[in-house]
Amino acid sequence: AWGLNIVSAAVAVEAKNVSKIFGAGVGEVRALDNVSVTIRQNEFFTLLGPSGCGKTTLLRLIAGFEMPTEGSILLDGEEVAHLPPFKRHVNTVFQNYALFPHMTVAQNVAFGLEMLGKGKAEVQQTVAAMLKLVRMEELKDRRTSQISGGQQQRVALARALAPRPKVLLLDEPLSALDLKLRKEMQIELKRMQLETGITFIFVTHDQEEALTMSDRIAVMSKGNILQVGSPTEIYEHPADRFVADFIGETNFIEAEVTERIGDDGRIKLPSGIQVPHKVTTSAGVGSRVTLAIRPERIDLVKADADAHFTGKVSNIVYFGTDTTFHIDLESGQGVTVRMQNRLGHRDVLQVGDVVGLRVEPEAMQVLRD
Ligand code: ATP
Repeated sequence: AWGLNIVSAAVAVEAKNVSKIFGAGVGEVRALDNVSVTIRQNEFFTLLGPSGCGKTTLLRLIAGFEMPTEGSILLDGEEVAHLPPFKRHVNTVFQNYALFPHMTVAQNVAFGLEMLGKGKAEVQQTVAAMLKLVRMEELKDRRTSQISGGQQQRVALARALAPRPKVLLLDEPLSALDLKLRKEMQIELKRMQLETGITFIFVTHDQEEALTMSDRIAVMSKGNILQVGSPTEIYEHPADRFVADFIGETNFIEAEVTERIGDDGRIKLPSGIQVPHKVTTSAGVGSRVTLAIRPERIDLVKADADAHFTGKVSNIVYFGTDTTFHIDLESGQGVTVRMQNRLGHRDVLQVGDVVGLRVEPEAMQVLRD
């Protein structure tokens, strides 16, 4: 199937109605609030959200470093509340790598295997395979205090993957790397996940990182999971305002539901124009709804009867690959439009020009209230 990852339907990790409360009384923090999520075997699954939303807490509950206040965690369908971290088939790669500086690269990777009592031949074979996987064979005899941050990252990955855990937990593992190295490691991590077939659960607050690597993403805010979906689903069909705003750039436009028959409906835009739409929320006729429209889904057209909106260009920014237009609509609202630049790009529009805006109805996402 075109070399794409085939994610199995079998469940690797399940969180069922999990809450985690730290502290007590007035100082109480509800880090997770009744969270349920299912992660499939062989999946690259990302927990994405702003600082403090509960990502690390959920990861630590799966690893067994914390216990849920309520709810249960299942690995391979088995409740693991009673199992300490080392008895779960789970390994963690930490942000700071936590390598042994006085040991060589190979000794670091071998360490966990020796602790598990594996025989010498098996340890050697696995270490070699892991160093090949992370492309660190040539530096195997260097001490980890004498290699770069990016190389340390690779060793930490090899060490965590060596005992072949069923699930690998990664807590912002790329945050210490510079931008170029981080982009390179994003591709490398995805490759390692595909080659090993191990389920990866990856924590990040970087939306671009999440979109480029994940099979599915859970977007979190304030101890809740707001939406779970593939990168395309999350980007093209954000469920609510937080998700739409956190991932990419979005224009929010207020509209009114004017018709609804089953899944088919019509909405009235602020310009008075009505457009068909697929009903995705419970909003009935007469309800106000918010539409999320991505800047690149808007076309600039003549200001005539075919336009969904009319407005005046207030600012134009040229970015090389594309140009961003800021447009003040007749309703007073400002919107952003992004257009890809063609070869031989010429400035056809100027600040002050009156333009029409058109959006395919499918690109007008009605948000959950
Ligand atoms: P970051 O990206 O900053 O690591 P996060 O999304 O991983 O954030 P968590 O670390 O899971 O968030 O924290 C969620 C909430 O729980 C925060 O308000 C945090 O302050 C609180 N919290 C986490 N661990 C503890 C703890 N051991 N004791 C008290 N409060 C905690």
